[in-house]
Amino acid sequence: MENIYPRLANLAIRIEGKGQYNIAKYVRATLDSLLRHTAFNQGYSTDTTSILADLMSVVDDLENKGFDQEIVDQLRHGYQVMAQNDISKIPEFPTPIVCRRCGHIREQVQPERLGYCPTCGADLASFSTHRPIYWMREFDPLESLERLNQTPLAYRNRLSHIPPSSYDDKYSVGEWSPLEVIKHIRDAENVLHTRIKLILAENNPYLDFQMVWDWADKPAASESIASILESYSSSRSTTLDILQNTALKDWWRSAIHEEFGPVTLIEQVSYFAAHEISHLRQLPPE
Ligand SMILES: [Zn+2]
Repeated sequence: MENIYPRLANLAIRIEGKGQYNIAKYVRATLDSLLRHTAFNQGYSTDTTSILADLMSVVDDLENKGFDQEIVDQLRHGYQVMAQNDISKIPEFPTPIVCRRCGHIREQVQPERLGYCPTCGADLASFSTHRPIYWMREFDPLESLERLNQTPLAYRNRLSHIPPSSYDDKYSVGEWSPLEVIKHIRDAENVLHTRIKLILAENNPYLDFQMVWDWADKPAASESIASILESYSSSRSTTLDILQNTALKDWWRSAIHEEFGPVTLIEQVSYFAAHEISHLRQLPPE
């Protein structure tokens, strides 16, 4: 079963070569599904010591197999950064790009991506790029507005089914309580709100890294769920007002993000819209 992954990847390319993209997409989706399912079955332990041990073991395996040394070195560097509980930022960790045809991997040296794959000759512009998170490209302006409008209602709805006596309960080890989740979502909304105003007011502003997840389990200063929900909703409605009055071209205004490098307004908005959805899983469904 193990070598079904390369067989599927190989078939997808060959089927695409025959112009049968609708068949190839099923082959790719199957590959994606099998990989993620196998990963899921291993369990997503949140223990940092075990994550570091597994990372080191994988890096050692890659090095022994003769995998690209530049990437192996970066993974080792990543290990050090995590072990010291530091933040990984884009100048140290540029965007890796991968040849879709042969798997050649390298760091993206110039954004223009001019040149060819040294292994198979594919154009660098056809390589897949691996940005820090898919959220930045997830939603277009209209989709983002819709999500930013809908998700607060989804949180309100889910919280309404949790008895107040359970607001501080953690449903599993390493997870957050309902109070911590909603506090985190409200804090993230405040960051989004500030950044939107900054990007619209200044040319290419610098966006400081914010440890938003780190604020979640700090004492909530006796804030109740109701007051957190209230400040979240009211900040969100001002955010939506601003965005609805933003000219389409201004959604592509740029900023320099301390962690991610150059980003646009739409990337930040899409990021926060998708981020917010990703935390819904942590509240029990109705
Ligand atoms: Zn190639």
